[in-house]
Amino acid sequence: MTALAPAPIAPLIDPLGRAIRYVRLSVTDRCDLRCVYCMAERQTFLPRNQVLSVDALDRLASVFVDLGARRIRLTGGEPLVRRDVMDLVKRLSRHLASGALEELTLTTNGTRLAEHAAALADHGVRRVNVSLDTRDPGTYRRLTRGGDVGRALDGIAAAHAAGMAVKINVVALRDDNAAELPDLIAWAHGEGHEISLIEAMPIGEIGADRTAQFLSLAEVRRELETRWTLSALDRRTAGPARYVRVQETGGTLGFITPMTHNFCGDCNRVRVTCTGRLYLCLGQDDQADLATALEAGGEAGVERAIRDAVARKPGAHDFRIAAGAGAAVARPMSMTGG
Ligand code: SAM
Ligand code: SF4
Repeated sequence: MTALAPAPIAPLIDPLGRAIRYVRLSVTDRCDLRCVYCMAERQTFLPRNQVLSVDALDRLASVFVDLGARRIRLTGGEPLVRRDVMDLVKRLSRHLASGALEELTLTTNGTRLAEHAAALADHGVRRVNVSLDTRDPGTYRRLTRGGDVGRALDGIAAAHAAGMAVKINVVALRDDNAAELPDLIAWAHGEGHEISLIEAMPIGEIGADRTAQFLSLAEVRRELETRWTLSALDRRTAGPARYVRVQETGGTLGFITPMTHNFCGDCNRVRVTCTGRLYLCLGQDDQADLATALEAGGEAGVERAIRDAVARKPGAHDFRIAAGAGAAVARPMSMTGG
């Protein structure tokens, strides 16, 4: 009798036909900075006993890989403030070695990247996204409520030296960095980095009104077009980003416009928090408790919980920036993972 081949595992496809290939995994809600658009000045963090162990995070992520996820991005909070984060990177890198995972990446503020860049590269991390809203030391200190831009710049240089591609992410803010954006773009391109601009989203109660600081990227783009030639690149990502080449610098510039353009139609991502909550959409509250599913039913229980949740992935978020509109979701970006 010939042995039957194992039945192929059904991929994760939501009711709108979107295949889920991309998981953002938050490893901590803590951070060494307090960016004004992200957190309140006196942010309260989760008790440590609610944060999943590296073993549990690995098990959850690995179920997604078994179900067809091809990319995992570690995020937070600040992922590199978690002391055992490199254990997780090392464990997850086995999926790169096996070919199951195409990419393991990280979003970081860069302040601890200099310490970790070489090890990340050794474990197969080929690119990192580093958030940097300004290169001006005073503005950085104010925007991050106390951060040292030199550390972020050192981190970026170390990542580059370790052979990783660096993408700079910039939240566009009317008062704080609008005037600096062309310099920031020219600098990033001069260093050989891609750079993306992001519209501020109404996520998390920050104890202030975001309306005044909101800057539409349509407006930024018009301004940039008065000095540079931007040609659209045919690079489609299943996310809210569109890319152009800046002819004069030769570099790539992304516009991430969750507010003014909604590209949810081809969204292929889900987010898992450091407590094991699965969120189907950054801008909606529906979630599934994968930590409890893991405890009660092991990997099979997690698979069932993921499939049930993906079956109700919402079509789109409904962010609005309007005076007094408040946050679309109360949980901060640092909790869900950017
Ligand atoms: N701490 C890491 C960092 O800053 O890169 C990773 C987590 S952070 C929450 C991920 C990204 O979310 C950063 O690029 C940050 O600028 C962005 N972000 C945070 N709050 C945001 C908001 N309200 N609107 C838009 N982007 C936001
Ligand atoms: Fe921390 Fe990143 Fe939020 Fe800034 S954006 S406070 S670095 S989690």
